[in-house]
Amino acid sequence: MKVPQLNTKEIIRWSIFVILLVSLIFSIYQYTTLVKKTDSTQTALTEELAQAQQKYTDITKENKSLYEALFSEQQKNQAFEKQINDIANTVGTLEKLSKTDPELLQKYSKVYFLNEHYMPEKLILIDKNHLSQDGKEEYIQENVWPYLRRMIEDINEDNLTLKILSAFRSFDSQTSLKSNYTITYGTGANQFSADQGYSEHQLGTTVDFTTEKMGPTLSTSFENTDEYTWLLNNAHHYGFILSYPKDNTYYEYEPWHWRFVGVALATKLYDEGKHFYDLDQREINPYLVNIFD
Ligand SMILES: [Zn+2]
Repeated sequence: MKVPQLNTKEIIRWSIFVILLVSLIFSIYQYTTLVKKTDSTQTALTEELAQAQQKYTDITKENKSLYEALFSEQQKNQAFEKQINDIANTVGTLEKLSKTDPELLQKYSKVYFLNEHYMPEKLILIDKNHLSQDGKEEYIQENVWPYLRRMIEDINEDNLTLKILSAFRSFDSQTSLKSNYTITYGTGANQFSADQGYSEHQLGTTVDFTTEKMGPTLSTSFENTDEYTWLLNNAHHYGFILSYPKDNTYYEYEPWHWRFVGVALATKLYDEGKHFYDLDQREINPYLVNIFD
């Protein structure tokens, strides 16, 4: 067999062809490897990303449950704090109530009156310039005085001249006053003790008023004075009420006789057009704790 003879030209051509072929194969191989590598990298990244996302979700969940736990703990604390406050308030109210004389808002009647040994806790002397009579001493419960003083100062600023005729009266002074009548001590004791007006004076929170012009006299004509009209319209702001209004069924009419029951109760009575003795004692009692607020 005859081997074909290649000339130099053909050798070169074949050589170039072979080189190109090898280059192409190598390139394809490299490309394939690269694609594979890229694919696996991408897969790894995707996995990593998924893991990161999972972690994020887990952390968020964990945070959420932590937050929820914290929130419920806070709420528990708040409820607990509220309970403590409620208890403290109740204790405070009870303590305040235990220190407040229950007689201060008591209704007196022919069957219920102040004990003869009752004495107000603290009495103070009323400034002489507010009294109707010279040379007389009048006392009032210390806690009531700021309200009474402010009321008198305010009414006098309106060019009126309200004067105090009498305030606190002890049981003894009632006895001597009443001895002017034919009532004798003993069988008559109940009779004058049942005097509601005197019980209120013995309490030390009640005042009989007159005007400068009227002088030291108790008279129903007080109802015709501007001072009386002012009291009807304003006394509740200072905690005072008219105990025995006109045409009442519980005691004789006394336009001069005003009792301190606290601003809240006096205002309620004013707003509802009611009188102290119209109310049931159970309706009155809740006002005791804040009588001096
Ligand atoms: Zn009186």
